[in-house]
Amino acid sequence: MPLLRALLSNLPTLSHPLLLTTAIALISLPFLYFHFKIFPKPTRYLTLLYRRKILGHTIPISVNYHFTRVCNAACKFCFHTELTGYHAPLPTAQNALRLLAESGMRKLNFAGGEPFLYPKHLGQLCKFAKEELQLESVSIVSNGTRVSEQWLANWGAWIDILAISCDSMKAETNQLIGRAERTTGVPFDNVTQLFRIRDWCRKFGVRFKLNTVVCAKNWEEDMVDVVSELAPFRWKVFQVLVVDGENENETRRRDARSMVVTDEEFGWFCRRHKGVKGFTPEPNRLMRASYLILDEYLHFLDAGNDKRKHSDPILEVGVQKALSQVEWDEQAFNERGGVYDWSRDAGGNGKTACSGELGGVKLSDLEF
Ligand code: SF4
Repeated sequence: MPLLRALLSNLPTLSHPLLLTTAIALISLPFLYFHFKIFPKPTRYLTLLYRRKILGHTIPISVNYHFTRVCNAACKFCFHTELTGYHAPLPTAQNALRLLAESGMRKLNFAGGEPFLYPKHLGQLCKFAKEELQLESVSIVSNGTRVSEQWLANWGAWIDILAISCDSMKAETNQLIGRAERTTGVPFDNVTQLFRIRDWCRKFGVRFKLNTVVCAKNWEEDMVDVVSELAPFRWKVFQVLVVDGENENETRRRDARSMVVTDEEFGWFCRRHKGVKGFTPEPNRLMRASYLILDEYLHFLDAGNDKRKHSDPILEVGVQKALSQVEWDEQAFNERGGVYDWSRDAGGNGKTACSGELGGVKLSDLEF
């Protein structure tokens, strides 16, 4: 206190420009120290803070780039169906990803279709996102059939998370779902491949994740033992989703109506598996508009509450204008734990981040 009193009594002398500058620098030091220590890229952080707070921009924190719709499977509930065979050339995709990074993207997930049908393109995009754009997290969602040890040896250094979709451990259920090679009709031998991929991920320092869609064909299945043995750091469990314009009736390439489960059935699956480490359920309510989806033409896709719409291409109108043309529910994104320990060196424990209600079942009752 005496020091503060002495400083205050000498305030008039601070009118000297040099003294004033020194005083401001001294006062700012703890603030700058705090930000430099906590945030590895303080300039970027402060710029984003300015954009969000002062300019009112929307920050696309986590983006799912479905760069292709082509797939080797034929899942009946697929909600990103093979409407086109297009994917943007590498330089075009890179320009779009750079715009997103400048707008505040921190995590990028590559999805499809099946992204591993274009292994070189996928690897080059991962390397670009990690090395050039310095993103905190680069991940891939795949059906697992085309993942190889050699690919991970070549590109694994630029990947934080590899998520493999697995809806059943039984060939006959996979057949009913449509998780089978489209050309031969042979269902995926996913259990053997899942363990292989899990081991390759460990070898190359990539975090292994599992995704499951709960539908009419698998909601009664007990997956506890196999998933526990696989030990993914996070197990995302989705309630099958009907999306207008993609899979809502027989005129679409896929018709998911026969695959729908009630909230109670989804809750039943969740209660059975709630004790598995990393278990993270996602009911329809949280899924609908909480994902930022960039499609193969570099549009954002709308949630699809009515007929599915899309924004103009981000390379034509910019990220902010494109974001303003679609619905993105940032609150639901946060509620479903959209930001988590997503870097390869995070050493995550698979903790869940859900709250609220799960289609008639209180998440608090599930005792995560
Ligand atoms: S694996 Fe199934 S759900 Fe995924 S893109 Fe292919 S058809 Fe769609």
